[in-house]
Amino acid sequence: MDKNKKPTFATVWLSGCSGCHMSFLDLDEALIEIANKVQLVYSPLIDIKEFPEQVTITLVEGAIANEEQLSMIKKVRTRTSILVALGDCAVTGNVTALRNTEIDGDKKVLKRAFIETSDINPQIPNEVSKLLKKVYPLHEKIPVDYYIPGCPPSPENILYFLTELLAEKSPQVEKRTKFG
Ligand code: SF4
Repeated sequence: MDKNKKPTFATVWLSGCSGCHMSFLDLDEALIEIANKVQLVYSPLIDIKEFPEQVTITLVEGAIANEEQLSMIKKVRTRTSILVALGDCAVTGNVTALRNTEIDGDKKVLKRAFIETSDINPQIPNEVSKLLKKVYPLHEKIPVDYYIPGCPPSPENILYFLTELLAEKSPQVEKRTKFG
């Protein structure tokens, strides 16, 4: 990381419950410390629609469940130096991947969400991004640099990781750069 410039920082929300982002926000006053050391350039927490061209660190919550997310995470990967899988859905698929245990789980999820539980006008909307046949943890589709497991990861673990990374130490958490 260039010592003369603050590293740029992003967070991305794929198929997850937002609990990992909530845990990040639970850093409370430590967030101010982190915010002083990075430049936040993209996140569901701020109103920027396009992922920037070059980001130093990106935390990704959630698994890859639809075509839009697959295309998004490939773009994020090409534009990010250090990509971190944040939480068990990103790391293993976790609850998001429960539909993988069913034959035609993608179709069953849509039917349950839009037909069986609908009181009026039951139909699957066209605007919904096409679900992938199965849900994937990040490393099955893109190279991942670091993993922070947990459902959600504790604020203490997130803080430890970011503090070590921003101090340019290699955090003592699992690291894998190999794809697949
Ligand atoms: Fe939610 Fe747990 Fe998945 Fe994080 S890992 S998105 S808290 S279900």
